[in-house]
Amino acid sequence: MSLRARIADLIEAQGPMSVAQFMTISLLDPQEGYYATRDPLGSGGDFTTAPEISQMFGEMVGLWLVQAWSDQGCPKNPRLVELGPGRGTLMADILRTAKVAPEFLADLEVVLIEASPALQQIQGDKLRGLNNGTMGADMSWQAQFDDSLGDRPLFLVANEFFDALPVRQYVKTERGWCERMVTVLNDELVFALAPVPAPPAAIPAGRENAPDGGVYETSPAATALAESIARIIAARGGAALVIDYGYTEAAGFSETLQAVSGHRFADALAEPGENDISAHVDFAALKEAGQRGGATVRGPVTQGQFLANIGITERAAQLMKSNPDSADSLLSATERLIGNDQMGKLFKAIAFVPPAISDVAGFPP
Ligand code: SAH
Repeated sequence: MSLRARIADLIEAQGPMSVAQFMTISLLDPQEGYYATRDPLGSGGDFTTAPEISQMFGEMVGLWLVQAWSDQGCPKNPRLVELGPGRGTLMADILRTAKVAPEFLADLEVVLIEASPALQQIQGDKLRGLNNGTMGADMSWQAQFDDSLGDRPLFLVANEFFDALPVRQYVKTERGWCERMVTVLNDELVFALAPVPAPPAAIPAGRENAPDGGVYETSPAATALAESIARIIAARGGAALVIDYGYTEAAGFSETLQAVSGHRFADALAEPGENDISAHVDFAALKEAGQRGGATVRGPVTQGQFLANIGITERAAQLMKSNPDSADSLLSATERLIGNDQMGKLFKAIAFVPPAISDVAGFPP
C-alpha cells in the first residue's frame, strides 16, 4: 500500500491529522518516508546544501567550533554533535579542519543524530575511515537528540535540519484561530480547517490584528529541541551553531510550508514520501527558546555575514592561489554561499553559548 493510501486510511480511522503529523509521516515513515528511503542531496537528487556546494562551508564551521572550544578554556571531553548530517560531508570537513587543534580532537566524542537508516549508512561509509587515531572516542549514531547528551560540554551544529521539523499551522477565521489539518476528500488528500477553534492559549499574544485567512505557524518540536540544547550548553559549556533558511522577524501572517522535488517546487500533499517537505525556520522563536534554556544567544545574522566574518573570502583567495585552475569554481561557490541573491541572505545563522561567554566569532556583540 502506498504511503498516500496509508495516510488516507489513518485519516478515515482517526479523523483529520495536523500538518505536523503529516510532515512527520511523509518524511520519516520507516518504509516510505522521504528521508528514510533515499539520499536526497546533490544534482541528481532534490536539493543541494551548503556543505555540498563547497568544502569551504565546513571549514568555516570547523574553525568556528574550535574557536568556541578554545574561548572556553579548551574544556576536556568535548562532545561534537551534528543534527541531520545528510551525506556526512559537513562532518568530514569539520574533522579535517579541526586538525589545527589536536587537543580538541584527542578526547572528542562524535555523535550523529540521524533518523534515516539509509543516510546513517552513507554517513558511516564516509566518516568511519576518517577516525584513524586522530580522535579520542568512536563515533556513534542516534535517531534522536536526547538527555543522554547532557553530561559533557556540547558542541553542536545543524545545517538545514530545523526546516525539516514539523510545523503546526493555525488560520484566522471569524470563529477564531482554527488549526489547518490534512483530510481526505474524493480520494484526494486536501487541507481543511478544524471546525473548532484552538484554545486561545495556543496563539501567542500580538497576533490579534491578523486578517481573516492569516496564518500562525509554529514548530513546537523545534523550540523544545533548541531549549534542551541551550540548557545543556548553559550547564556544561559548549556552543551550538544552527544554520538554515528562515526569517528573523515575525513572519507576518503567511505560511511557509513547501515541497521540493527534482530542484523544483511541488504539491506537498500529492505524493507523500516522494517530495522533500519543509518550512522556513522561525529564528525569533529559536532565539527565545535558547534564552529560556539559559544560554547566551547571538544572531541571527545572515549566512553571508557569518561566513564573511569568519573569513570565507580569505580562504577562497588562499585556495585559488594553490589551485589556479579552480579559480572560477571557487569564486562561484563563494558567491553561491554568501551572495545576497543566492544563499547569503535567505539563510541565517544563530549561536548559543554559555552565559559567561561574551565574544562569539562571526557574530556581532
Ligand atoms: N545537514 C545536511 C543534510 C540536510 S537534509 C546538509 O547540510 O547537507 C536533513 C537531514 O536531517 C537529513 O540527514 C535527514 O535525514 C535528517 N532528519 C530530518 N528530520 C529528522 C529528524 N526528525 N530526526 C533526525 N534526523 C532528521
